Amino acid sequence: MPVKVLVIGGGASGLMAAGRAAACGASVTLLEKMPRLGLKLGITGKGRCNVTNIGTINDYVANFSPDGRFLINALNRFFHHDLTGFLDARGVPTVVERGQRVFPASNRALDVVSALLRFTKEHGVSIIKNCAVKHIRVENNQVIGLDTSRGYFAADRVILATGGASYPQTGSTGDGFRMAQELGHTIAPIRPYLVPLLIKGPYAKELQGLALKNVRASVYARGKKIGEEFGEMLFTHFGISGPIILSLSRAVVDHLDKGRVEISLCLKPALDAKTLDARLIREFQSQGKRQFKNIL
Ligand SMILES: Cc1cc2nc3c(=O)[nH]c(=O)nc-3n(C[C@H](O)[C@H](O)[C@H](O)COP(=O)(O)OP(=O)(O)OC[C@H]3O[C@@H](n4cnc5c(N)ncnc54)[C@H](O)[C@@H]3O)c2cc1C
Repeated sequence: MPVKVLVIGGGASGLMAAGRAAACGASVTLLEKMPRLGLKLGITGKGRCNVTNIGTINDYVANFSPDGRFLINALNRFFHHDLTGFLDARGVPTVVERGQRVFPASNRALDVVSALLRFTKEHGVSIIKNCAVKHIRVENNQVIGLDTSRGYFAADRVILATGGASYPQTGSTGDGFRMAQELGHTIAPIRPYLVPLLIKGPYAKELQGLALKNVRASVYARGKKIGEEFGEMLFTHFGISGPIILSLSRAVVDHLDKGRVEISLCLKPALDAKTLDARLIREFQSQGKRQFKNIL
């Protein structure tokens, strides 16, 4: 008798895990609470899905978080070239763009969803939609099955792939954290990351729509620098956003509950004070008829 595996959640992880478990010989059923699979995956990368990055394993670990080393083992077994090969074999060729980012050549995140669905079909995974898992049942310290909105399902193994808690409209409402906690796991507090930032004061609204390139943003908490990024950002009606702000958001969020966080922008980080001074004087002299604020 094949091992009976139940996968909770039909996002990127659940679909991949279900397909792989079935490819390894298990009898797999995937339970998804939404009417469709891969809803979040379908909106990633503004609908284009930034599937991977061709950096090194060390780059991944360095960019993940201070405890990113736990990824090394998994990445050694399945890395970006394995993923692009996997997609290519299922009719989704990819292209590399600026910043070593990889996208489907079709620019359609939904093609990535289709490739994963195809993978589960290839290996005979059963899929049950509109089925919300409520509770993982355990007997004698052993997982025995799942209580769901559609009744009880027995299992030899359970894979919890319910995603995080961002974009709850896609089904990722953080259920997995509760289920893991009920089994005795310790859950680190969840926090937003890769998010735009609200700022105090009138500046954001006044500067709304202003996009800046090649600037340096430095973030300070209690006088100490906690992060710095160079690149593009923009002002919105509520605050600041853009690639470098999203990257800095983790440092900001980590410090917000400890007090005020300040951000400082250097608009010309490549110029030293003397060169900048000479440049400004030249600009003012050559554009003497324009208003000061417009030259700035
Ligand atoms: C706007 C946005 C853009 C993004 N862009 C990118 C990008 O370009 N590249 C990238 O790599 N990452 C991107 N991400 C991150 C990426 O979406 C996630 O890392 C990825 O979706 C995680 O996959 P997952 O399978 O772990 O979880 P999810 O995709 O969240 O899937 C979890 C699934 O579990 C289901 N589920 C939850 N609870 C239950 C339950 N109790 N019972 C049954 N089913 C349940 C959910 O309905 C959902 O289908 C983006 C995220 C967002 C929000």
